[in-house]
Amino acid sequence: MSGPMPGQKISLPGVKHVIAVASGKGGVGKSTVAANLSLALRAAGQRVGLMDADIYGPSVPLMFGLGLVDQTKVPFPIEKYGINLMSMGFLVDPAQAIIWRGPKVAQAVGTFLVQVPWGDLDFLIIDLPPGTGDAQLTLSQQAPLTGAIVVTQPAEVSLIDARKGVSMFQEVRVPILGIIENMSYLETPSGRVSPFGSGGGRKLAGEIGVPLLGEIPIEPLVSTCGDSGEPIVRKHPDHPVSMAYAKLAQTVIDETAKQPDSGGLPTVQL
Ligand code: ADP
Repeated sequence: MSGPMPGQKISLPGVKHVIAVASGKGGVGKSTVAANLSLALRAAGQRVGLMDADIYGPSVPLMFGLGLVDQTKVPFPIEKYGINLMSMGFLVDPAQAIIWRGPKVAQAVGTFLVQVPWGDLDFLIIDLPPGTGDAQLTLSQQAPLTGAIVVTQPAEVSLIDARKGVSMFQEVRVPILGIIENMSYLETPSGRVSPFGSGGGRKLAGEIGVPLLGEIPIEPLVSTCGDSGEPIVRKHPDHPVSMAYAKLAQTVIDETAKQPDSGGLPTVQL
């Protein structure tokens, strides 16, 4: 497989907007946000692709109930719930990928991005590997990103990592569309409680002058739906969490409309 040369910007001609969903560390809900945002954009009438670039812990196969995928179908995207899906998990055994270093990860994902016939899409959402190492930096540089969304949890300790994510995009001059605070609070019969602290996402958004795009509560259904292959936005479209995603999708549509189309960007050497 031949991929992009180091430093070369990837061109995805049929794709209007490419959006990276990133987090400073694993476990904050990045993949869950990427999947549900993709479904909410689809529900809003957009043509959507979702690229699971998280080679160490690919989540798309589980969250979309795909199980084992026939390798001969790769690199063609697999359509489920109206979304064109690709996952590094279709290609690479995560147990083997764990020994890969950043440059190899970036090269594999870059090659994958170029070779998959995405077709005409309004949005390609890229679920980046967690963290801010070489692989993430190279990908952020090479992919024709319209913008990035940084997912964080509300605690101060999570913000330290989220700030690293923000700096990474600033370094490669990718606009940050906003911050999503996940696991913000828990609705209980006696009111809201915030086991992971509160206000972190708002604070970070304020610090860097970008919108807080959403505060998603801790909701056990989010987890059970994801684990059973049908994310909450698809399974329970009227649930308050799904409504929050619908609002988020609309904000993403509005914010990206202000940016130039990715497909229209010239191929440039960095
Ligand atoms: P990451 O991609 O950041 O590693 P995941 O999206 O895999 O994180 O989420 C980690 C775990 O947390 C998963 O089991 C997921 O179902 C769960 N989860 C994510 N968001 C929520 C939420 N808002 N409420 C409850 N569980 C959640």
